Amino acid sequence: MPEETIFSKIISREIPSELLYQDDLVTVFRDINPVAPTHVLIVPNKLIPTIDDVEPEDEPALGRMITVAKKIAREEGIAEDGYRLIINCREHGNQEVMHIHMHLIGGRALGGMIKRPA
Ligand code: AMP
Repeated sequence: MPEETIFSKIISREIPSELLYQDDLVTVFRDINPVAPTHVLIVPNKLIPTIDDVEPEDEPALGRMITVAKKIAREEGIAEDGYRLIINCREHGNQEVMHIHMHLIGGRALGGMIKRPA
């Protein structure tokens, strides 16, 4: 079994978060250290450490993450201007919490995606 992270405790509501949405497959809460006016995390309820660990049976949860991103973006009022969805994976992706999560970021122009090396 993969090691639980703080996100498992948020999903089970053992520790508080600014919870926006929860269903049978995913949980959505505000990032504690936002980089933009809207910065929420969309997390599968099942503990999958990284994108490299997904299995075909996880496709319903991964698909739900996208449809819920659309719903939350509309509710946050950022759908028309647009936003960015990011899933980091492991060290080079700068993943800090080893429980898959999709960042939904918007509410300001985000600029180019990744800085080129100088
Ligand atoms: P990543 O670098 O993709 O693993 O992103 C981890 C994200 O989790 C960061 O943006 C953190 O600010 C966020 N985070 C860490 N702990 C919490 C928490 N307790 N509640 C909400 N967001 C958190």
